[in-house]
Amino acid sequence: MKQQTRLISTIWSERDNSCAKTINPPIYRGSTVLFDSYRDMVNAGKNQYEGITYGTDRLPTQRQFEEAMRLLEGAVLTRIFPSGIAAIQNALMACTRSGDHILVCDNAYGPGQRFCRKILKKFGIDHTPIPANAGGDIERYLQPNTVLILLESPGSQSFELQDIPAITEIARERDIITMLDNTWATPLFLKPFDIGVDITIHSLTKYISGYSDLLAGSVSTNEKLSPVIDKYYKTMEIYTPAEECYLALRGMHSLEPRLLQHQQSALTVARWLENHPLVDKVLHPALDSHPEHHIWKRDFTGSSGLFSFTFKKDYSEQQLAQFIDALRLFHLGYSWGGYKSLVTAGKLSRATECRYKDKTIIRLNIGLEACSDILEDLEQGLSRLS
Ligand SMILES: *Cc1c(COP(=O)(O)O)cnc(C)c1O
Repeated sequence: MKQQTRLISTIWSERDNSCAKTINPPIYRGSTVLFDSYRDMVNAGKNQYEGITYGTDRLPTQRQFEEAMRLLEGAVLTRIFPSGIAAIQNALMACTRSGDHILVCDNAYGPGQRFCRKILKKFGIDHTPIPANAGGDIERYLQPNTVLILLESPGSQSFELQDIPAITEIARERDIITMLDNTWATPLFLKPFDIGVDITIHSLTKYISGYSDLLAGSVSTNEKLSPVIDKYYKTMEIYTPAEECYLALRGMHSLEPRLLQHQQSALTVARWLENHPLVDKVLHPALDSHPEHHIWKRDFTGSSGLFSFTFKKDYSEQQLAQFIDALRLFHLGYSWGGYKSLVTAGKLSRATECRYKDKTIIRLNIGLEACSDILEDLEQGLSRLS
């Protein structure tokens, strides 16, 4: 045998009988997965094969992370997607068909709403935005062809909460699917399946992975919806790179201690801002002053590190720049849930009545810096406005 052939014909994975028991699992990369016999291959073609058939059939790295998420959520089935927005888009496509109508809460992740307007609409699926603090009143928005309600509570800009149990009760009576983006609370602080939700979505890009170095999303379901998502995922052959799954699984192990720290610092900063002379409203569900605080207290077991506030005065863009650019610990950038403090600012665009219409919303991602340093930074930044 020629040297080149010897190299090519070695199956290195078969030589791995060292069984090194590393704490974290190995990363499996692969498109082709070898069958032991032609019979196995034939059975795979007939869906009668137990093993993994191909890269898009989810290699062990994807499956391990998927299982960790499923257990954390208390779900029946979890599937991983290449980003949070891909999870939203695909979950919506899996559950709707031409002629259907869906309700979307008005504080849901903007690009998800844009997908409804620009893409679902094109395929004959209509949507109606419902108020960000909807509850039992959703009844008035239902149409005979309403099949799904997309919720996000709290919304990740303005933090209104929906009354999820009130909505899921009405939806169940009419066989309407409820889907909740639970990225803000994570499965640690809200258990959506316990309050009647059928499908949960996560941007794993945020707290679950925790280090701002990957994009991934998940869709998890209860018993009833699991065949729908399972079949859809198989048909679409969605592939999330193993490296992302490996990193997200690794990050997940520090989720609880990170989140407890985010929670504590964010509450301290939120209370401090409430007493600041320039600040009007602090939009944080765990504060007594939040309009849906009673709902947060009833349904959630904690709060994370992302919240917003508004100013009493309407500052110009130039004045806002003086404040924001003076911050040294808060960096400017999209996304959140990582260890670094971040700030964004802007006005909301809303289809329904909104408490904060025309108000500039300053959104803070409270990172893992020492809280005293975060406060000092905000103090010196805000001093540029007075
Ligand atoms: C960021 C975010 C998403 C989208 O996640 P990506 O992984 O960035 O695509 C979805 N929902 C919420 C609430 C988010 O904050």
